[in-house]
Amino acid sequence: GRDRYIQKTKTVCTYCGVGCSFDVWTKDRQLLKVEPGQGHANGISTCVKGKFGWDYVNSGERLTKPLIREATGFREASWAEALDLVASRLESIKAAHGPDALAFVASSKSTNEEIFLVQKFARQVIGTNNVDNCSRYCQSPATKGLSQTVGIGGDSGTIHDIEQATLVVTVGSNTAESHPVLATRIKRAQKLNGQQVIVFDLREHEMARRANQFIRPKPGTDFVWASALAKFILDNDLEDKAFLQERVNGLDEYRESIADYTLAYAAAETGIPEATLEALARQIAAEERVCILWAMGVTQQCGGSDTSAALSNLLLVTGNYGRTGTGAYPLRGHNNVQGAGDMGAMPDQVSGYQKITDPLAIQRHEREWGITLRPEKGLDNTEMMDAALEGTLKGLWISGEEMSLTDANVNHLAKGFEALDFLVVQDLYFTNTARYADVVLPAAASLEKEGTFTSTERRIQRLYRVMEPLKGTKPDWEIYQAVAQRLGTNWAYTHPSDIMTEIARLTPSWVGVTYERLEGYRSLCWPVKEDGTDTPLLYTDRFHFPDGKAKLHPATYKPRQQAPSAEYDLHLNSGRMLEHFHEGNMTFQVPGIVSKAPDTFVEVSRELAAERGIQSGQWVRLVSPQGSVKVRALVTGRVQANELYLPMNARHAEAAVNRLTGSQGDSQTNTPAYKDTSVRMELL
Ligand code: SF4
Repeated sequence: GRDRYIQKTKTVCTYCGVGCSFDVWTKDRQLLKVEPGQGHANGISTCVKGKFGWDYVNSGERLTKPLIREATGFREASWAEALDLVASRLESIKAAHGPDALAFVASSKSTNEEIFLVQKFARQVIGTNNVDNCSRYCQSPATKGLSQTVGIGGDSGTIHDIEQATLVVTVGSNTAESHPVLATRIKRAQKLNGQQVIVFDLREHEMARRANQFIRPKPGTDFVWASALAKFILDNDLEDKAFLQERVNGLDEYRESIADYTLAYAAAETGIPEATLEALARQIAAEERVCILWAMGVTQQCGGSDTSAALSNLLLVTGNYGRTGTGAYPLRGHNNVQGAGDMGAMPDQVSGYQKITDPLAIQRHEREWGITLRPEKGLDNTEMMDAALEGTLKGLWISGEEMSLTDANVNHLAKGFEALDFLVVQDLYFTNTARYADVVLPAAASLEKEGTFTSTERRIQRLYRVMEPLKGTKPDWEIYQAVAQRLGTNWAYTHPSDIMTEIARLTPSWVGVTYERLEGYRSLCWPVKEDGTDTPLLYTDRFHFPDGKAKLHPATYKPRQQAPSAEYDLHLNSGRMLEHFHEGNMTFQVPGIVSKAPDTFVEVSRELAAERGIQSGQWVRLVSPQGSVKVRALVTGRVQANELYLPMNARHAEAAVNRLTGSQGDSQTNTPAYKDTSVRMELL
């Protein structure tokens, strides 16, 4: 028989937004195996991270005592002392400079319940809307573009819909490495259903190789081809007329706005031949069911929101919303980045995307929290750092985000951190960001807590406590509650389910979400009605606007041609590698993964390598106006010509790609244009 101390507990993967669920077999803190089987997104599959990426919970690097900065460095402190200090410093900053001198960054790796409490803490306990999360660095532009066209920023349907599409188009998405199990399901649909796949990207990654067609536009020109295809479809009577007539507003204005986007213009701008563009337009118009998937290649650009709207416009023109197998799928990177936005960790919205100025939301929050929501938008992540440098932001509390490596232009960011009077960093490890902190709080990991995550499908799933929190650590929700209580509130949550009850009361699109309805492997895709009916597929009868109709968003954005200069002559792209997650804080603590993928590298094209005499393994220095990094070169056919690719997963902070990226960003959301970076390369 089995050892009676061996336990099996259901959890949800923390490594990407696909939302794979599985059982974890443990003996005490020892992880015996990860066993998938019943998860909606994954069934019997996981990727290498989901299967083998968990040893970080037992890493000797885990923080187990709060740290307080003294003149000579950090010293260990008790929880009581650290929490008292946090409470008193927040209070004194608020008293001296007002609530807006404080700001909060929620983690997209935390649970929904915890993220909800971060924004509640900001708004109720402190009285500021200065709260944001890391979707500011990734999918905010997609949320914006979709909100403008179809009304809801999330994915239109589920992975089931993506499987049912006759054509899947991916744009700027390294799907096989960033969302591996989803890529597997697409591969299966290709094989079993004859699904067609078109990949638009700069880099010939695995997904591009699997595609029926791989298209390489010039950097930052997706807006142009998407608008040109829509114009060609409309000019040649290939649009879905009935759909446009019945379900969509704004056709005339949209048509006028794309008048200049001829195929000839698009070919010149994007480098995609005119004949290819025409064939693509005809194919997309003719296909029965089309899904468009996109990721950071679209959103981390100066026109990220406009390009997201342009892709949504293309779906509207061809009637590809509201039916199984159709729709827009901005793929969420972190396991709970969808939830971070859903739970209101945003400077202008509370949970469920209710605007802070919405009279009904104000009423609900007045009733529940006893405060009036302030109507002024707070600071987003980017603005927080500017305000710190200007001296108006004095205190910042960051949970579980390695901002000092993942924000763009990190050398600039470091100055912002240094300018703060008080910085709290809450994390599993002594991160690079923690180096700037005044107080460091040791947090519990996802395997050590209960709660829910929301995957890219808008699917809410429960995670159960696989093991007790490592001695000395606490779940985020307990930490926020302990400080809120010190600041005189009556917060008295005894379990994350208490928080979910409050979320449901305050959030119309989550009104029917309860822990009972999420028991075990059960899940719900929001919006969820009071009777528990959920909505895997959106827009089946109406779009999320008052008259129920979608809106074609006029194309006002004018993309600029990217032109690396004589001094910075190479275009630098960045993204993920399969084995590692994000900046790598967790996965570089997993020996098995490190042995397979020990460090980062820069991909150099064969042409460029031949021209400059570069060999794989050779050290090079990349230099941008913002800074420099030293990495090894990897000569590969995946990139072409003057295009470089540097994974964001760096083992050493010195190799972080964001030493090179600049401060320019998407005009509508302030999302940094990470992908719009030029560098020069020096051989070492
Ligand atoms: Fe985890 Fe994503 Fe891999 Fe699934 S695909 S196991 S959610 S990292």
